[in-house]
Amino acid sequence: MSFEKLGIIKPLLSAIKDLGYENPTMVQTRAIPLVLAKSDIFATAQTGTGKTAAFGLPLLQRLRKPLEGKGVRVVILSPTRELSIQIYEDLQKYAKNMKIKIMILVGGKDLAKQKETLKEGVDIIIATPGRLMEHTDSGFSLTSVEAFVLDEADRMLDMGFTKDIRKIHPLLPKRHQTLLFSATYSEKVRKLSKLILTKPAFIETAKKNTTVDTINQTAYLVDTARKAELLAYLIGSRNYPQVLVFTRTKKSADELFIELKKDGLKCGVLHGDKTKANRLKTLTQFKEGVFRVLVATDIASRGLDIEHLPYVINYELPSIPEDYVHRVGRTGRAGRQGEAISLIDIYEKYDIRDIEKLIGQKIPQDTVEGFEPDPTIRRKDVDEVKLKAEHKRAPAKKERQYNKNTSSVPVTRKQTKVTKKKRKTTKRDG
Ligand code: AMP
Repeated sequence: MSFEKLGIIKPLLSAIKDLGYENPTMVQTRAIPLVLAKSDIFATAQTGTGKTAAFGLPLLQRLRKPLEGKGVRVVILSPTRELSIQIYEDLQKYAKNMKIKIMILVGGKDLAKQKETLKEGVDIIIATPGRLMEHTDSGFSLTSVEAFVLDEADRMLDMGFTKDIRKIHPLLPKRHQTLLFSATYSEKVRKLSKLILTKPAFIETAKKNTTVDTINQTAYLVDTARKAELLAYLIGSRNYPQVLVFTRTKKSADELFIELKKDGLKCGVLHGDKTKANRLKTLTQFKEGVFRVLVATDIASRGLDIEHLPYVINYELPSIPEDYVHRVGRTGRAGRQGEAISLIDIYEKYDIRDIEKLIGQKIPQDTVEGFEPDPTIRRKDVDEVKLKAEHKRAPAKKERQYNKNTSSVPVTRKQTKVTKKKRKTTKRDG
């Protein structure tokens, strides 16, 4: 299949040729004709499958006839400022040979200025739900909307935007097209789809919650106290050019950032406590190669589109298994090879099983020479009791496994803190 055969017009064909797109991806092949035919769509497309062009190209094509009147014709909702900017940049590139007015409405920008621009009329608005609501609350009308897109709908709902979306939807005209894109297929998304979609065409480009085939996944078993050291060692000894590293919390992101800096690695940190301006700056610097390592929490995992990002490392597994899919989706984008490595300690043994259950595949486990877990280290008793209740399984076997070489009293996490050895990082950044 080619973009020409899908009916894409010349100005767009030439723009995507400049971007190096040769053939449409699966979601593009399926979605483009449906969007052109004005059908509603419910697409479960993984991150990195090319979904922005899947809705962006046909919508731009539909808008090629100039705007009459002064409304807005397409509204695209996205969960975060970063993702909105990414969509905006992509659409600008696709529309470079056309006269299409695209505007971004996210927080942190001057509201009054945005209002002035909106008065002139605009073809496409890309917005976060909160900021769009601020405009509609102060009288901005959505009655001229021809198409409404919800990108990463699952994340929007997880982030608590359900109410906003429910308020925005009735402001749209009765006849409009709705395109819903979601990385995962959750009950919440299904419920929302019932509310906002009319006779949708379903596009499922991959099995539910599976990770992309081109991503090589490995988990390295390591003791908690040696994770930072192993991470720096992997980056250095394997000469990884750029790595995105995920932590579970903001606190551990900050701590790891300091550790890696001590190791001489140039890095940035991205999490919810950073100001929007700071997050954007860090992201841009990472994209420009100023940093070799970007430490991020899950909030930052959406909306990051870094071309050819070959490595994603889970320093800590996410607390929600679905987030694993989003995290590793940052690599292996659009059919490229990628590698996702998870550093798992004794506390994460059950988390990885939940992830494997979700993605329907085993993640091979291994150790790195010199970083093998200390067999005398075991979980605190209190944690084991909790685990037993949570997982309804007898821990006897597990205990034996970790206690093989010892008859001593269980050692707690704190007690086992390994004294810092000289780091094994081989390559350093200036
Ligand atoms: P998305 O899933 O929209 O975030 O896209 C992921 C990445 O794939 C982006 O870097 C796009 O520029 C790129 N991309 C999208 N469609 C294609 C295509 N047909 N061929 C090559 N790269 C593509």
